[in-house]
Amino acid sequence: MPPIPLSFIRRVFLVTLAALSGCSEKDDSAAQHSYSPEITVEDLADRTAILASDAFGGRPPSGPMADKTVAYLTEAFKRMGLNPAFEDHYVQNVPLVSIAARPDAILQITSPKLERRYDYGSEMMVWTTRVVKEAGIKDSDLVFVGYGITAPEYGWDDYAGLDMAGKTAVILVNDPGFSTKDPELFTGNAMTYYGRWTYKYEEAARQGADGAIIIHETAPASYPWSVVENSWSGPQFDLVRSDENAGRVAIEGWVQSFVAEEIFADAGLDYQSLKQAAAKPGFKPVPMGLKADVSVQNTLERSKTVNVGAVLTGVSHPDEAVVYIAHWDHLGEGPAVEGDIIYNGAADNAAGVASVLEVAEKMAASPQRPARSVLFLFVGAEEQGLLGAYHYADNPAFPLAKTAALINTDVVLPLGEMADITVVGRGSSDIEAVLESVTTEQGRRLSAYPNPEQGFYFRSDHFALAKKGVPALYIDTGTEHVEKGRDFVTKAKADYVANRYHKPSDEVMTDWDWRGVVLDVEAIYQVGWQLAQSRDWPQWADNTPFKAIREESADERR
Ligand SMILES: [Zn+2]
Repeated sequence: MPPIPLSFIRRVFLVTLAALSGCSEKDDSAAQHSYSPEITVEDLADRTAILASDAFGGRPPSGPMADKTVAYLTEAFKRMGLNPAFEDHYVQNVPLVSIAARPDAILQITSPKLERRYDYGSEMMVWTTRVVKEAGIKDSDLVFVGYGITAPEYGWDDYAGLDMAGKTAVILVNDPGFSTKDPELFTGNAMTYYGRWTYKYEEAARQGADGAIIIHETAPASYPWSVVENSWSGPQFDLVRSDENAGRVAIEGWVQSFVAEEIFADAGLDYQSLKQAAAKPGFKPVPMGLKADVSVQNTLERSKTVNVGAVLTGVSHPDEAVVYIAHWDHLGEGPAVEGDIIYNGAADNAAGVASVLEVAEKMAASPQRPARSVLFLFVGAEEQGLLGAYHYADNPAFPLAKTAALINTDVVLPLGEMADITVVGRGSSDIEAVLESVTTEQGRRLSAYPNPEQGFYFRSDHFALAKKGVPALYIDTGTEHVEKGRDFVTKAKADYVANRYHKPSDEVMTDWDWRGVVLDVEAIYQVGWQLAQSRDWPQWADNTPFKAIREESADERR
């Protein structure tokens, strides 16, 4: 336990003063307001500094530095007097496999007239997520399926009337709302999950396709081709699932847009006009009259990571849970940048872990017990594709049907006191209403994530559980500094993304000011606490694909 810092005394004094004078929160400035739990700058800064230090080696998903990180978290939970989340254990094993494709595959596209060959890396990327040494497609008929979306809540089905057996889907990235900017289509400019590449491959598999190839374009993907090429080069980690991913399509991949232009022309089709047609309701898939051949050779390696979890057991509904989640892992060691090989991940996500540890410590120390259980969950291998979170979603400590809400903290930038708190995926669930009432009491407000078209809501751990219906809140540092305004924050965040995100330079910065993080942690403490005391079950918004999934288990919540 850290020593009681001065700010604790100052805060207790202010709260006591406020109580004595009977003044309401209206009289308090945001800076003075405090809930009863004593969230401190010192706790947050100290724990972040430890986890982000070189001594923790950048917290890779496995190996001695992973063990050290996990031991640190486990010891912290024990000291707080919290119960192990996984029967008698604080850790849950997560079996992993890495699949490294040989980088020499050739994608061959054959029309009645000609045959084209595309190179791995510069023109296309292909791989298989099946846990096999070799996979491929042969003479597979290409079908242009537009955005490759089946979304009953939007009355949309790009696969309507198609049997995809033996066929390969050719798919646009993002969704019709983004491409048309029509607020009536999907969620307009904000990306839905249907826009994410992960969804496209999952849906093609559900449709029984052989292969699924996404056409890359920088704006709708929100990143250039180099990101596609780098992300899928080298070993790709995945969970070892019971079916070894046999249910996935044999070949997943991307092609550059100039490749798409070329093969559409070969097929006698106009790519640009079909792209426009695909964004309109009633679009029908188009068989291209082309065949695809490609095979990939893999090297497989098995390993494991772990999730770490502890529980504050509820007094009246111990089988129901509110979950705080943050990924403990980062990238470990990697290519040297200015002589530094340790990717410390201070903001991503040492500071997120420190935030959840602070909630855990203060809630565990509270004399009042929650009605529902509260789970503090640190997941591993997030950077490899939310793998720890997906494993937890398949093997939860509490039934997902009775998991009332999830609160995720991933990337925390201590930029000082903020007038607001950002909700990524704003409007997703009514957990946001609870957060809004809490931040209003703090004299602050909620903001939407400024770039919803990038689909960040679908790119962090909470999403693995959202996909199974658990209502999830994903918060981020606010958008407006109390004294320095909006520009300061916009620039600071852009500087982080350009110069430190996923680089060895994501280290604790000397100019970090934790006062805003203290308010954010107070806010999530209070949201989790209120939900743990409540009989309410937060709901998904109507326009999310998760609402229908949640409703399937409604009986278990009566
Ligand atoms: Zn992260």
